Amino acid sequence: MRADKLMYIGGEWVEASSGERFDSENPATGEILGSVPKGTPADIDAAVSAALKAFPAWRDTDPDARGRWLLSLAAAIRANADDLALLLARESGHYIGKAQGLVEFTAQNVEFHAGLADKARGSSIPTGPGRLALTRLEPVGVTGHIVPWNYPLFLITRSVAPAVALGNTAVIKPATPTSLIAVALAEIVGSIGLPPGVFNVVTGPGSSTGAALAGHPDVRSITFTGSVETGRSVMEAAVPNMTKLTLELGGKSPVIIFPDVDIETATEVAMQGALSRCGQVCIAGTRLFVHADIYDAVVARLAERFAAVRLGDTLDPRTQMGPLVSADQLRIVERYVAIGKQEARLVVGGARPDDPALQKGCFYLPTLFADVTNDMRIAQEEIFGPVLSAIKWTDEDEVIAQANDSPFGLAAAVWCNDTTKAIRTATRLEAGGVFVNEWIGEDFKAPHGGYKLSGIGRENGFECISQYTEVKHIAINLVDKKPENWCDAPL
Ligand code: NAD
Repeated sequence: MRADKLMYIGGEWVEASSGERFDSENPATGEILGSVPKGTPADIDAAVSAALKAFPAWRDTDPDARGRWLLSLAAAIRANADDLALLLARESGHYIGKAQGLVEFTAQNVEFHAGLADKARGSSIPTGPGRLALTRLEPVGVTGHIVPWNYPLFLITRSVAPAVALGNTAVIKPATPTSLIAVALAEIVGSIGLPPGVFNVVTGPGSSTGAALAGHPDVRSITFTGSVETGRSVMEAAVPNMTKLTLELGGKSPVIIFPDVDIETATEVAMQGALSRCGQVCIAGTRLFVHADIYDAVVARLAERFAAVRLGDTLDPRTQMGPLVSADQLRIVERYVAIGKQEARLVVGGARPDDPALQKGCFYLPTLFADVTNDMRIAQEEIFGPVLSAIKWTDEDEVIAQANDSPFGLAAAVWCNDTTKAIRTATRLEAGGVFVNEWIGEDFKAPHGGYKLSGIGRENGFECISQYTEVKHIAINLVDKKPENWCDAPL
């Protein structure tokens, strides 16, 4: 990997036009890992120009060849898996085992989307005799990708891989805390010789570089993944240019546990949904609706299991939960826990760990609140930390109404041994993804996206194709006849 850590624009490695840089930190230790250029709107402009210049040749590249480029990228990601996993663990706070899995997941995601290059297609439409009506899917042009820090490698490729496979060029603005990972991916892209300008990375603050990308008149599609608040400003910035938009935003996912589920199962389900990646997951199952018959037993078992979670350095293979991504995120979690202590009953956690070895990092104990009601702030607002709210329920209709009583609608889960009841509940939940007796997180083969404040549009699966293509209708006259009198035409 290069030592100078520069931005990648038009196939060149460049400093920011301002000449400024900013540091990237290990959230587990506070160690400075390196610095990256502090990009500016002028750098976004340069990247968009490079992407615009590269677009016609990339659009006209044989789709099979575009697919093969992406397969080469997946292979190169695997070839650099150790370095990427190490960087993910050190810069973003994923513990090393999870980081290794995420690198492989990213490679598989690129391979899936490589297949779209020669499989996304239009159709013929029966508009009547004497005419052939076709639709053609055409790439939109320059696409912008604004990415958060929680899954920084996977989330770049989740949108860039389909965009590029379908003939578009891309400008990426990573989140500031995880810029080194984006630069490392750019190095891998550079190493496979992808044509200059197809893939560009500009590192820098969201309020300047991100906003400049979202509002750039030459950008035809923006994929934004991040918070609702920033999503709103991205949407506003896109309005003057009518830029196509996918917004993948936050969540407060309900997990409904029926009384026929055993306590062990309910505990594991709750832990996976709430503590994976230290709770910093958009779909995190942070509202745990447990039936009254097993509520006390589940809360008691969860208290034991939460207290036993091993926090530690992300490079220690025994670690089960790493740190929060930054001191800012830690402060947000602390604020919500203070609110929770006033609203509900703190069962376990609710503080930073005492372990002296963890004091330099942004660690927070797994935290469980019981006697929570769905109207409390800790049940309504996204905390983005290892904080779980357990809510008691007795009536099926009521629990579904409460699960749906949320500004979000990203994911939900139902755990129930009665299949009819489980499926009935799944169909009634307002969420873009519902897991029944499992918690898959995200599968790039299936659509991912949200209802309500959780966003607009879908990533992954075939559903993402509409974000990166325009549909062109071509109508062809097949009969040899004179045109009708112009004024008799219906439109
Ligand atoms: P964020 O909104 O603070 O930042 C996201 C990105 O937007 C970053 O790259 C940031 O630099 C940039 N940005 C900031 N201000 C901007 C502006 N004015 N204009 C344009 N870009 C700007 O989010 P975050 O804290 O990085 O991520 C956490 C959020 O992301 C959570 O709400 C989480 O639920 C959500 N998320 C959603 C999904 C999903 O698929 N739905 C996946 C992961 C994370």
